[in-house]
Amino acid sequence: MKGEQKTNIVLRGIPASPGIAIAEGFYLERSLPSFVKSYVPDYMVEDEVEKFLKAVEKSKSQLREIRDSLPDRESEHARILDVHLGLLEDSMLIDSTVKLIRDYRFKAEWALNRVLTGIINSFHRIEDAYLKERGDDIKQIAHRIFENLAGRKVDSISDITEEVVVVAHDLSPADTAQMLSRPVRGFATDVGSRTSHTAIVARSIGIPAVVGLGNVTEHFYPGARVIVDGYEGTVIISPDASVEEEYRKKLVRSEKRRKSLVKFSKLPAVTRDGHRMMVMANIELPEEADQALQLGADGIGLYRTEFIFLNRRSLPDEEEQFEIYRRVVEKFHDSPVVIRTIDLGGDKFASHIDLAEEMNPAMGLRAIRFCLREKEIFRTQLRAILRASKFGDVRVLIPMISGVQEVRETRKIFEEVKGELKRDGLPFSERVELGIMIEVPSAALISDILARMVDFFSIGTNDLIQYAIAIDRVNEYVTYLYEPLHPALLRMIRTIIDAAKKAGIPVGMCGEMAGEPLYIPVLLGLGLDELSMNASSIPVVKSLIRKSSRAELENFVEELFSYETGDEVLRRVKSLFEELYPEEMNDK
Ligand code: PEP
Ligand code: MG
Repeated sequence: MKGEQKTNIVLRGIPASPGIAIAEGFYLERSLPSFVKSYVPDYMVEDEVEKFLKAVEKSKSQLREIRDSLPDRESEHARILDVHLGLLEDSMLIDSTVKLIRDYRFKAEWALNRVLTGIINSFHRIEDAYLKERGDDIKQIAHRIFENLAGRKVDSISDITEEVVVVAHDLSPADTAQMLSRPVRGFATDVGSRTSHTAIVARSIGIPAVVGLGNVTEHFYPGARVIVDGYEGTVIISPDASVEEEYRKKLVRSEKRRKSLVKFSKLPAVTRDGHRMMVMANIELPEEADQALQLGADGIGLYRTEFIFLNRRSLPDEEEQFEIYRRVVEKFHDSPVVIRTIDLGGDKFASHIDLAEEMNPAMGLRAIRFCLREKEIFRTQLRAILRASKFGDVRVLIPMISGVQEVRETRKIFEEVKGELKRDGLPFSERVELGIMIEVPSAALISDILARMVDFFSIGTNDLIQYAIAIDRVNEYVTYLYEPLHPALLRMIRTIIDAAKKAGIPVGMCGEMAGEPLYIPVLLGLGLDELSMNASSIPVVKSLIRKSSRAELENFVEELFSYETGDEVLRRVKSLFEELYPEEMNDK
């Protein structure tokens, strides 16, 4: 962060979630100090010990203060804080660090880092889940001590009480999910891309965001106001009065347009030539279901249930999950609710589940691979979902399928779980469909075989693009290669749709591509039956579908297959878009 107080600092990044946010900036410091082996002179050893013990004391009083301010002293949050306070009394962490400072003249940071690494490594070798969990607790309190040694304040989203725009180097999807219950108006980060889960959650909960700004944390200074323009991907630090006024007007205009679209969004999306498209919502948290309904969702096309497992210390049991799913299902009466089984790993993680530390998590033990290994977690979730099926039209969706064997194993477990529920006398619907996400290129290429084994397909373009073009979806440096209209992608999508049609099963799309207005004519022309997207895109997507003719777009899409590059396709799609929906362009 720089001290000089310039105004109107304009930064450009990746528009991650639409909307305008104007508020005071809140810098969320997360990076730890870099660790280098360093020493203090002999005569300063006792000062170093004292500095360390002071940082420990400060950490304790901070934790006590947070705990005492909690409205519910019995809550999960309060319990975690008690555990952390207990660990700060722990002689292993504190005494060993003091001993290293005294014995080797290490600087406090380096000594603590050494002790921490030793403890974490020994926890990794332990099978006991409870003790493993303590490993994460120790990491968190060590983080706090490091911050206090460096004289920095430890921040968390849950501490925010005033309207702010969060400025951070990076945010996890779990951080973003916490924003729903805090007065966070928007956020801006140095890193990140449009299809990272952090960006996806921001769109889902309707928080304007710009990511991949490179150096917003360097330009920001405490007290500065910040404007986030999530339409254009622009962030302005310390705007002057006239710039702020300009953005306030833009905010009012976009609100007005949103309201006019919402008026018709509960009506079905039928094309000019009479085809009904199901336009559904993607949700991450049950709280989003109401907004999805208000914005005209024809159902939930993707419920990312892994978010139930984030921001907590213990696994949700069957009863807890059942109640959560039931709440969502009941809201939608007889409209479909597609519940996706947990897709942990990749850029999402849950600290209490011991995921291996992998070099390449996106290609590691993620989603169905994790579930087929941790079968008890999987079975518990399937039981809870099946039980919720009694209350509406529930469908089960399996993520990251890469081949036939995974479908066979999943089907077997699915049937076994149904048998168990019958034996236990717990009711569920016999009609629950089992579908798979097509988001791995191998699955796309054998979609004709897979289509005979399941009840529906849902195309996950976020991962399909990541794996097909080999671009890490959270890496801002390769975002320029993210081309949903790449000829390879179009061919894969067509293959998947053809396979589904031939087998007579429905095929939808739930990746971010499905909620981008520009791609709607292409997706209609390709023949998808259903689109699922962040709820705020539903009104505009429905209005575009109503203005379109499927037959005309089928011809148009044929033409797209004659182009050689994603750029050429994009140019053609843009020109058609302007021709078909000129008012969309004026509204910008
Ligand atoms: C996808 O990959 O397109 C998808 C919808 O799933 P997620 O973004 O949760 O990986
Ligand atoms: Mg995916």
